[in-house]
Amino acid sequence: MHVIYGGTFDPIHHGHLRLAIELKERLGVSEVSLVPCHIPPHRGSTDASSAQRLDLLRLAVADEPGLVVDDRELARSGASYTADTLRQLREQLGEHEPLVMVVGTDAFAGFDRWREWEKIPQLAHVVVVKRPGPALEPLGVPAKLLQERGVSSADQLHSAPGGYCLELDPPLLDISATGIRERILSGRSPRYLLPDPVWQEIRRLGLYGACPDENF
Ligand code: ATP
Repeated sequence: MHVIYGGTFDPIHHGHLRLAIELKERLGVSEVSLVPCHIPPHRGSTDASSAQRLDLLRLAVADEPGLVVDDRELARSGASYTADTLRQLREQLGEHEPLVMVVGTDAFAGFDRWREWEKIPQLAHVVVVKRPGPALEPLGVPAKLLQERGVSSADQLHSAPGGYCLELDPPLLDISATGIRERILSGRSPRYLLPDPVWQEIRRLGLYGACPDENF
């Protein structure tokens, strides 16, 4: 079974890494792929470039054989659509291999506004990770999908190539990339919120307004 977990990862932090490990164990796979996406151009100018986010991700997983980086969305020009990514993966994996995409409840709440969203359950299973915040609109399409396609155990995902939805409620660390960027910009230390090699590289490159000679 192939599992993808996407995000902007600007920068990758321990909240992401911890969730990826939880997913690996709860879904019973040997590997989870982290898939960085393009960032819309209206984000702030101190944000890292795609190549820099990718470098930081690679540093973050260097010592963790269960986590791999899949840069296919950055290799495609323009916006990344999940349906395109899944279609590409489906072609590579063949029609029988189970494929899972992971999404937080916040993003899943707008699932029916994603491009070609109806195709997604035909291509993969959807694992929805509960995040703090408002519950899904009970009569909305995402809640209906969870009801109609919902399964109660990860084992069931291994029995079909796609089409099921599974809700997971793992413990989450209260860390956000926004909070880390704000900290760095205001000269405070983000240490222990993200891996040290990632923070060292952020300082070396002066990303997010970091001073290269800060020594924390
Ligand atoms: P930002 O603050 O820039 O919006 P972020 O920290 O929320 O970033 P993203 O790259 O947007 O990170 O998130 C990638 C994925 O990781 C999303 O599915 C998001 O729901 C999830 N995620 C973000 N932070 C955490 C966390 N602390 N624990 C678990 N999952 C998280």
